[in-house]
Amino acid sequence: MKIREQMEHVPCNLCGADDYTVIYEAKYDPETEQDLVEKFKSSGDELLIDQVVKCKRCGLIYTNPRLNQDLIFKGYSMGEDPTFVSQAKGREITFARSLNYIEKHAKKGKILDIGTAGGTFLHVAKQRGWEVYGLEPNKWLCDWGKKRQFL
Ligand SMILES: [Zn+2]
Repeated sequence: MKIREQMEHVPCNLCGADDYTVIYEAKYDPETEQDLVEKFKSSGDELLIDQVVKCKRCGLIYTNPRLNQDLIFKGYSMGEDPTFVSQAKGREITFARSLNYIEKHAKKGKILDIGTAGGTFLHVAKQRGWEVYGLEPNKWLCDWGKKRQFL
């Protein structure tokens, strides 16, 4: 399937406007035959190839067009990602720094991590006294996270 057929045009997620300036040109030919779903996963060492735009109304910077959301979910919910989980210790350090900042501005309570991957952020937050919740479509990452982080 051609890349163009797997992409969808999206308005600004913040304000709904459909008026933008291209700030980074796409690095692919939309007429190329390639199955993007097979390439899609939570970690990778590939450079950004998508077009990036800036909303003229609110200034949000986002990817447009993007891979069709049904294909994102299909690709992301399947498969394994050992590269991502191999980086867990480094992520714990980064997330602890993030929580230092968050805790300067918010009282500890409940925290929801949407797209929590293996739950490393929630693991660090739980150790610091937060009541943690996460959403993750990838079954393999969920299983890994439950075994490693929350037993
Ligand atoms: Zn906007």
